[in-house]
Amino acid sequence: MASDIMPNWLIKRADLSPERVALITEEATWTFNELHKLSVSAANKLSALGVKHGDHVAVLIGNRKEFLFLLHGLEYIGAVAVLLNTKLTSHEISWQLENSESRLLVFDDVFLEKLENAPKAVKQLSLAEFINAEEGKATIRFEYDLNEVHTIIYTSGTTGNPKGVMLSYGNHWWNAVSSSLNLGLHMDDCWLCVTPLFHVSGLSILMKSVFYGMPIYLVEKFDPAKVNMAIENYHVTHISVVSQMLVRLVADLGERVYPKSFRCALLGGGPAPKPLLEICKEKGIPVYQSYGMTETSSQIATLSTEYMLSKLGSAGKSLFPAQLRIEKDGKEQSANEAGEIVVKGPVVTKGYWKNEEATEKSIVNAWLYTGDIGYLDEDGFLYVLDRRNDLIISGGENIYPAEIEAVILSHSAIEEAGVVGQSDEKWGQVPIAFVKTWDGEMVTKEEILSLCKERLAKYKVPVDVIFVEDGLPRNASNKLMRKELRKLLD
Ligand code: ATP
Ligand code: MG
Repeated sequence: MASDIMPNWLIKRADLSPERVALITEEATWTFNELHKLSVSAANKLSALGVKHGDHVAVLIGNRKEFLFLLHGLEYIGAVAVLLNTKLTSHEISWQLENSESRLLVFDDVFLEKLENAPKAVKQLSLAEFINAEEGKATIRFEYDLNEVHTIIYTSGTTGNPKGVMLSYGNHWWNAVSSSLNLGLHMDDCWLCVTPLFHVSGLSILMKSVFYGMPIYLVEKFDPAKVNMAIENYHVTHISVVSQMLVRLVADLGERVYPKSFRCALLGGGPAPKPLLEICKEKGIPVYQSYGMTETSSQIATLSTEYMLSKLGSAGKSLFPAQLRIEKDGKEQSANEAGEIVVKGPVVTKGYWKNEEATEKSIVNAWLYTGDIGYLDEDGFLYVLDRRNDLIISGGENIYPAEIEAVILSHSAIEEAGVVGQSDEKWGQVPIAFVKTWDGEMVTKEEILSLCKERLAKYKVPVDVIFVEDGLPRNASNKLMRKELRKLLD
């Protein structure tokens, strides 16, 4: 359809506002015109390496400026970017390279040792080689078809094997539009990007920058003092964070407050502990809790500011172009009844790469079955409870591990908590907690259990607390792997 065709995004932006700042790093700044030229150069290098429209090119690079040049260079040619998580093990990287059918891998030299088992069929190029590579003459595309695949990003693999989510040009476009219709656009907006660019969270900032004509303040590694310094001194207006980052930012901030120009901390990626939200409320930090996943090109629901206080803990409503409902046994649930969160809209992926079975299971009549459990309150606000696979059913009652974990985490001595179900003759399953204390902190099992008894119904109180010294099992996205905890009980 002609209506699905747009002009080349970055060329359009460089034409509309060539001198506006596109990228800020600790080293320097780049305008959109400079970003465009560097992207043409990247496209020319890729072309000299034989990369063509439709090819899959894997990228194993952290939050560095070259990531942007490369990504836009791939867009210019029409090659699909396969974004690899830099924390993956060499075994996981090999699997994703093979599964994605990538023909070229561009990697940051610091990850060289992760490539020892990489499939031979994938040509490898280090960033140092890429920077010095010869330029060919790429056929730059002046139009983008919104139906084409832009990126393949593998899910975190928290519940099972990672799945390659195909995100189209249209998915990214609609994500940026949805977000702006919620947060609004100001001429002086500047989004700090410290979440990885290889995740939808970081990638979506890169996309918004081009659509909105907005600078990205790119941070390579999360350091709360540096991030706070940027917010306080460099007119950063937005930041995307996961809850652990927000905890550390708040701790570093101490008695200070953010400048009035700071207008959004977009919080996503997992549950947000209520105490954290309460502290942010007290400190006047504008937190927008959101819900989304790789399959929805980042957030699909966000809590608007006007409800930040009255609906604390909610992930809000689905963004303007999206729909969301709660289903159980094929039936839509009424208010306050829990069920699977099901979503639909132009940000939803068309499916998983080479995984028809998973696609058919997850997407039915354009509705995506997220595998997450939640409910809508009487005003239609979403509360995410937990993942369906992690639900504990005890004596016929549903127990959501995240609720118990949040209570345990509210204890100041606890750094990490994970709750899973243990088989039980009488109740079917009973909750059991794994915890790690902060270094140098002490707490007894009894103290944790008495906190749980105070705050939770009796059937939700863990039957035991197991102390883990080395921390809980997490995947490359730092997400708690409850399936690994369950294995410890076998
Ligand atoms: P996999 O699908 O391979 O198991 P994953 O689901 O962890 O991995 P992502 O797409 O990175 O991979 O994460 C999305 C998931 O994060 C959501 O499906 C949901 O379970 C969780 N999540 C996101 N936002 C929230 C939120 N506001 N509250 C609770 N959980 C959330
Ligand atoms: Mg998932």
